[in-house]
Amino acid sequence: MTHTPANKTVLISGASVAGPALALQLHRHGFTPTVVESAPELRTGGYKVDIRGTAVEVCRRLGILDEIRAASTDMSGGSYVDAKGRTVGQMPAEIFGGRAEQDDEIMRGDLARILYERTREDVEYLFGDSIAALHDDGDGVDVTFESGARRRFDLVVGADGMHSNTRRLVFGDERRFRRYLGAYISIFTGPNRLGLTRWETYHARPDKLVSVYSTAGEQAHTAKNCFVFAAPGELSYDHRDPDAQKRLLADAFAGDDWEIPRLIADAAGADDFYFDAIALIEMDRWSSGRVVLLGDAAHCASPASGQGTGLALTGAYVLAGELAAAHGDHRTAFAEYERVMRPGVELNQRFAAGFAKEMTVSSRWKIALRMLMVRTLPRTPWKNLIAKKIRDDIQRAAHAVPLKEYETAPVSPATACVPR
Ligand SMILES: Cc1cc2nc3c(=O)[nH]c(=O)nc-3n(C[C@H](O)[C@H](O)[C@H](O)COP(=O)(O)OP(=O)(O)OC[C@H]3O[C@@H](n4cnc5c(N)ncnc54)[C@H](O)[C@@H]3O)c2cc1C
Repeated sequence: MTHTPANKTVLISGASVAGPALALQLHRHGFTPTVVESAPELRTGGYKVDIRGTAVEVCRRLGILDEIRAASTDMSGGSYVDAKGRTVGQMPAEIFGGRAEQDDEIMRGDLARILYERTREDVEYLFGDSIAALHDDGDGVDVTFESGARRRFDLVVGADGMHSNTRRLVFGDERRFRRYLGAYISIFTGPNRLGLTRWETYHARPDKLVSVYSTAGEQAHTAKNCFVFAAPGELSYDHRDPDAQKRLLADAFAGDDWEIPRLIADAAGADDFYFDAIALIEMDRWSSGRVVLLGDAAHCASPASGQGTGLALTGAYVLAGELAAAHGDHRTAFAEYERVMRPGVELNQRFAAGFAKEMTVSSRWKIALRMLMVRTLPRTPWKNLIAKKIRDDIQRAAHAVPLKEYETAPVSPATACVPR
């Protein structure tokens, strides 16, 4: 067995949640991460994401929990309104979110910013670039970037989301791994037309759900407009073309009343427009040689799970910890990372596949039934039992990945030992 410095240089593709969280923890373990992000700067925008269960403990260990608490959405509740804007029923945030005491909620963009600020001094970030080609020769990975630069890294991690470029280059076409769950989601910032403060307003139509919310951190004059619509088959569009996506969104909601026409029109001026299919990424394995996938790139659980961000954070913590525990031996570390993560990921994906069907309802009478439930639930004697059942299911999924303790002692070249 030859003793060599372990696999210290790690290229991470994607600077959203999973990538910077991994970089933070790898740096603490003594590795040298570099993050490449195709966007010219850190991307803002996105919806509010839950930090629940295991992810709360992960954030504590990453040292970012206090900042998450400070940037909490701090929502107080939500209400359903009818087409005339009349409140049909309302519920406090805990029932909506299935949250336990420690859990929190933060805007995705705020979380990405916290992680980036924590790492930017210690980690090399390459914005506005992307991996064009990579070649794993068994001893390292030669990477050619879109910019034309060429570099060699010990390991490469694809943390580049549901439409992962790294996955495509190493494992093949995304369509082999994507399971469409029958709906699309769009979200963007617009004027606070409904005058909301820490409140979410929902309006359901057959096969569609619109919600508008303003969180504690939102500027007083802005709100988030969120649209979900069912579509039996996948739509054909370029996921890098926001104008095409805005047209698809407008078509899907054409002719709808309530505030919908004005809310849709706000998309034109939004610089944080997000649009994507609600879909899972399901793969038999997450690594190949010296390349491994993380977060949505490996196992997107979709917004229907409410756990995609938590799984991305947990996966980053586990992957970095396993690399350190194995003194950089990627074969051992990648296998253990997958063994620890996979059962929890699969539970959350099953949960998402079930819940995706309930995000929208298909007819007016089913909407009327749902509104009746929303209206009567706060007054029923079983209110607490129902809330507990919702919370227990969500909490089981949120605690599904067991968390080990990993020492953050740096990997030193003297002690590192990689079988070759
Ligand atoms: C701007 C934005 C808004 C989002 N909004 C929502 C939302 O409203 N609802 C929802 O369910 N999920 C949303 N997501 C996805 C959500 O963040 C993830 O489900 C979850 O947090 C897991 O994060 P991730 O880091 O694994 O992947 P992601 O958050 O998807 O991050 C992937 C990162 O990789 C970057 N990237 C992509 N291609 C390349 C490439 N070729 N080279 C380098 N970098 C690349 C992306 O720009 C992004 O920064 C959003 C993601 C982004 C980036």
